[in-house]
Amino acid sequence: MATSETKASSNFIRNIIEEDVKAGKQAKIVTRFPPEPNGYLHIGHARSIWLNFGMAEEFGGACNLRFDDTNPEKEEQEYVDSIKEDVLWLGYKWSGDVKYASDYFDQFYEWALHLIKAGKAYVCHLSAQESSEYRGWATKPGKESPYRSRSVEENLALIEKMRVGEFEEGSCVLRAKIDMASPNMNMRDPILYRIRKASHHQTGDKWCIYPSYDFAHGQEDSIEGITHSICTLEFQDHRPLYEWFLDNLPVPHQPKQYEFGRLNLNYTVTSKRKLKQLVDEKCVDGWDDPRMPTVSGMRRRGYTPRSLKTFCDMVPVSKSNSVIDVSILERAIRDDLNDHAPRAMCVMNPLKVVITNVVDGKVEDMIAAAHPSKPELGERTLPFTREILIDRSDFSEDSSLSRKKFKRLVLGEWIRLRGAYIIKADEVVKDSNGEIMHINASLIPDTVGKDAPEGVRPRGVIHWVSASHGVPVEVRRYDRLFSHESPDQGGEDFMTYINSESLSVITAVAEPSVASCAAETSFQFEREGYFVADRYDHTPEKPVFNMTIGLRDTWAGK
Ligand code: ATP
Ligand code: MG
Repeated sequence: MATSETKASSNFIRNIIEEDVKAGKQAKIVTRFPPEPNGYLHIGHARSIWLNFGMAEEFGGACNLRFDDTNPEKEEQEYVDSIKEDVLWLGYKWSGDVKYASDYFDQFYEWALHLIKAGKAYVCHLSAQESSEYRGWATKPGKESPYRSRSVEENLALIEKMRVGEFEEGSCVLRAKIDMASPNMNMRDPILYRIRKASHHQTGDKWCIYPSYDFAHGQEDSIEGITHSICTLEFQDHRPLYEWFLDNLPVPHQPKQYEFGRLNLNYTVTSKRKLKQLVDEKCVDGWDDPRMPTVSGMRRRGYTPRSLKTFCDMVPVSKSNSVIDVSILERAIRDDLNDHAPRAMCVMNPLKVVITNVVDGKVEDMIAAAHPSKPELGERTLPFTREILIDRSDFSEDSSLSRKKFKRLVLGEWIRLRGAYIIKADEVVKDSNGEIMHINASLIPDTVGKDAPEGVRPRGVIHWVSASHGVPVEVRRYDRLFSHESPDQGGEDFMTYINSESLSVITAVAEPSVASCAAETSFQFEREGYFVADRYDHTPEKPVFNMTIGLRDTWAGK
């Protein structure tokens, strides 16, 4: 696991590209990001986007966005749309139009015919179970299909029948004729086409046979002039097949495939199938729920494209899959928001303080900087009134609490209100059950922005809002979605580790300046953490804030 010492990373892919560029191997590098539109993008995809688009950007090349849409049953237009939106939000622009594997279906079919005519592909009627028996396993060579030696004419007639829909799904496939004894299972007569009588989100009902990933990917790369086809490690064993197609077809260009390790995060899952299960079983409120490790979820949570990029920069590109500590991602967002988010005050659990030496109805405007080190972010106005709210946890009646440990308001003592006066808690007013109803306090005049007078020792500084001018805000606090560090490792079902307390919703009271902000505006609520105005639900009339991250890593040492 990466440690907090991880810094600007090593990147062997960059080294390869750099050398190719120096050696003048290609006029221009071309990469691609090839998602299958069967789910929303997650942090692992953000990593791949960062690498593919980032390399193209760095070396003055181009990066295509190409939908790998060869499996119509699992794919949907909704996913296509969300993926485009996410890539743009991350700050990248694809080269030319969006591309689809399905743009090339005619060409693939022609190439399938080419292989048949060359005696390198055949229609096979083995059932799925028979095929898997015939395939053998890693240490045992496979057996040749009885359909392998069919004539070219027969194969041409059969593929045509497959194409026009004369065969049932699953009754036959088109396979390459390579080597059933190859130590690489991918080379044991892999499937090129399957029958799928499903409507396709791009091609409608034009096709009822669909190419396999392997038969499509390298050829797509070739058609698009991809120079560096960067993919994850699980495709390493597919590389010989990728190259076999390029060698055996009249393709216009020879791309090259490179593999890097998948990025995984602890305390979460990064597999579209599992994320879809969370959505389908309503464990979360959709793909873009702020607890999801999806790009749209992180966006809604208040993560910024800049912080995701910083995170990717921090994690080395390696040749093995890795599990990265989620606290590294959290630190990236915390640092980013610390630098950029304006400050505001929001009281989560309000306790009323009546400042008895302020006349009722008087409003004094305090002026505070929006950011301690960014004057360009401007100032905000904090209305100060006789009745204010502080956080319940910021008050204690126990004056034996040490000043070091409890830097908050204690009965009979002083505290500074952030950006305003020093006050003293004079009296606690309780109801008949002994519950605190409010505190009576008094302010020391002329202490705004000034040192405390002789003999007055405030314990610290606390945040507050005006009881009459503060605005109620819905605050959604999030915790990790899984209570286990590696929810999908080992034998157990990842669903058993769902943290049932990952969301809590409260009504807090915020300073008035935050209500009018646009959706997706981030703030540091002082002493509480970073919060973002919800992308969908926030309005000035009914403000809604999502907690992005706390001020400190509260999980460290847990
Ligand atoms: P999943 O397993 O989540 O369904 P996938 O690999 O099937 O992911 P694709 O849509 O095929 O999803 O992925 C598009 C691109 O993103 C591929 O090039 C893939 O290698 C890359 N990618 C997917 N997950 C990760 C990851 N965790 N880390 C790095 N790259 C990834
Ligand atoms: Mg995939």
